[in-house]
Amino acid sequence: MDYQRGVITGESVWRAIVLYGANSATYKFAFGATLLEIAATGRDHVTLDELAPRYAELLCQALQRQPRQGTSGRSKFLDACRAFNAGDLDLDTLHRRTVQLGFVNVIDAFPKLGGEQAPVRYYEDRRKSLAPGLVLRDELLELARSVHAPDLDAETAARWRLVETAWATGVSGALLASSPSSTPSLVYDSGTQHLVLQTGQRRKSVAGVVAALSGYQDGRCAYCNQLMAQERSGPIVEHVLPWKLLTRDWNGPDVDAVWNLVLSCEPCNVAKRDRAPHESWMPWLEQRNNDLIESRHPLRDVLMAQTGATAALRRAALKDAYRRATELLPVVWTPSMGTHMA
Ligand SMILES: [Zn+2]
Repeated sequence: MDYQRGVITGESVWRAIVLYGANSATYKFAFGATLLEIAATGRDHVTLDELAPRYAELLCQALQRQPRQGTSGRSKFLDACRAFNAGDLDLDTLHRRTVQLGFVNVIDAFPKLGGEQAPVRYYEDRRKSLAPGLVLRDELLELARSVHAPDLDAETAARWRLVETAWATGVSGALLASSPSSTPSLVYDSGTQHLVLQTGQRRKSVAGVVAALSGYQDGRCAYCNQLMAQERSGPIVEHVLPWKLLTRDWNGPDVDAVWNLVLSCEPCNVAKRDRAPHESWMPWLEQRNNDLIESRHPLRDVLMAQTGATAALRRAALKDAYRRATELLPVVWTPSMGTHMA
């Protein structure tokens, strides 16, 4: 991820805030989505009264999907949302409770990274003014108008669904081969290109793999660094070590799994065909997998089970898989731009 490489932009810091870090509650997903929507209208000031309806709506919808939206005990605000969902609270009361209770922590916590003020500020806290609310800074208004905005929205939604699913099912670590088949696990479904929750024979879609992975490569092609939002075809799900290996005498790790999946532009996908990339590109994949793991992504334990518990083990496992793959399919493809090698 750009931010982890020291690249400070409106979108890199936003992704670091929303897509990175241990999650203990899902407020920040709802808050970030609400901010982007309101900023997209061009407004530079918003009151809590104006933020409340959409923010509460997103959390009420989330509670209907998964009753658990945090790891700590009770939340009076979420209780209000639950009461609304159950028909025990009217909409006006929900909005009033949201203004009173819903923003207490999130407005202070959202702009922080690792406990420090993030290097880009998106709003100024004006809760103590006559019309309590936020001043939306140019950094946020520009982000909401940018080519990145739809991706950020989809990436937030994907991480939200994966996080709540992991809490609801205790899915983490469940992909180990020794797990009983009735234990739920998050797996990639190549037919639908979705991450699905598999329990025994049942599969339930959780999130599209494009939205789940896009933020961790900053919306850019894995091979040529082009912004994929500018591509007509949109991102294509790409097997780094070719899927074709599964039709050969392949005895390496499952290549139809997240550790081996990246997003690319169409020209790179077409050019690469059934070849592995040149060895010099492979550190990109190693880094992306480390980013997913370090971001405390819900797929973290799955990735560690598939590729190794430490960065050193993962490097060795990837090198070994690459060596095996290029023994079977020796002709490799060299990506045409080197900007991602920086
Ligand atoms: Zn490309």
